[in-house]
Amino acid sequence: MSTALYERRKTRQIHVGDVAVGGGAPVSIQSMTTTKTENVGETLIQVHALATQGADMVRVAVPHEADARALPSIVAEGGVPIIADIHFSVRLALLAVEAGVHGLRVNPGNMRNPSHVKDVADACRDRGIPIRIGVNAGSLDKKLVAKYGRPTADALVESALHEIGLLEAHGFTDIKVSVKHQNVPEMIAAYRLLAAKTDVPLHLGVTEAGTPKQGAVKSAIGIGTLLAEGIGDTIRVSLTADPVEEVKLGKQILQTLGLRESGFDFVACPSCGRAELDVFALAEEVEARIAKLDLPPMQIAVMGCEVNGPGEARDADIGIAAGPGRGLLFAKGKQIGWVPHDGLVDALIDKALEVAEEIRAAGTTDTGPGQASVIKGAGRRPVMSIGMGAPE
Ligand code: SF4
Repeated sequence: MSTALYERRKTRQIHVGDVAVGGGAPVSIQSMTTTKTENVGETLIQVHALATQGADMVRVAVPHEADARALPSIVAEGGVPIIADIHFSVRLALLAVEAGVHGLRVNPGNMRNPSHVKDVADACRDRGIPIRIGVNAGSLDKKLVAKYGRPTADALVESALHEIGLLEAHGFTDIKVSVKHQNVPEMIAAYRLLAAKTDVPLHLGVTEAGTPKQGAVKSAIGIGTLLAEGIGDTIRVSLTADPVEEVKLGKQILQTLGLRESGFDFVACPSCGRAELDVFALAEEVEARIAKLDLPPMQIAVMGCEVNGPGEARDADIGIAAGPGRGLLFAKGKQIGWVPHDGLVDALIDKALEVAEEIRAAGTTDTGPGQASVIKGAGRRPVMSIGMGAPE
């Protein structure tokens, strides 16, 4: 764990299926399907795609009874904990509980009849199912918006504490909470405030973050800032895109902060006028080829010139520093030899497989002098990222 991070905030621990959330458990990643949940086949394809990319749990929308009726099959075949997203219907919430979902997302404040809150709390307690309270700036109680003038951080936190109280009044404490806002500074402020007032585990997210580029920046700053302060127990990146992209980005955020182990850490220089070859094309080819391999955590560097390249390439498990017409290949800090440009990718892949075997045989990623700075975190699954070197 990076020494740059604050200590993780101490929260109560809950379990979503076999995934522990809070209480020092690794920060988990979740996403949400975009299919009609009643369409079991399509929903399962997406659940499996998300799980394969590293989602620890997957949420599905349950707006209608047909969706609730599909839940038993999705739970049985999903392969990861399934969370049912219920808006306010006690009937759908109870059907989801009966279906065996591993978590519910429901706001008790949306239930008009207080006895319904008790019914849901009792049913979830009997089955060991946690509830996420999802407070969202866009759907905040009108009275709170009127009180604060707009959905401020204070308004979100007041709503969250009220909702937590509604469940705790029935002795139900297996709760996690989100206070999402589309405005990143407001979102950060809301989570900070809430973290100071409750030990409930926090589900972090920037709501309606937008398209992949804009959403990546907003989410990395919003979620990343809080995680770096030790706040946050599970995350969901929201993008206007295939939810698989949400999981990939979530993993990159955790990996960057040293909160999840890296499958391989890819360092590629941004290129500049000194580059001796097309670094972008080389990096893309290496990334595509490496992604198909089953490698232990290791670092691979692709650098565009002999000026700054050899240093980074030498520090990685495997590295290339391009020179005119040929490139210098490094492995575990040692210079292996010069390879013509058109043979660089093959040579790098061959060497990566060799080093991977050595790492596996040694049973550790620390294989001696010249070892790479592979990030070692507490994650459950490997991830991939592209680190960017900088011109001098
Ligand atoms: Fe790449 Fe740095 Fe060399 Fe420029 S100076 S080509 S950015 S390694």
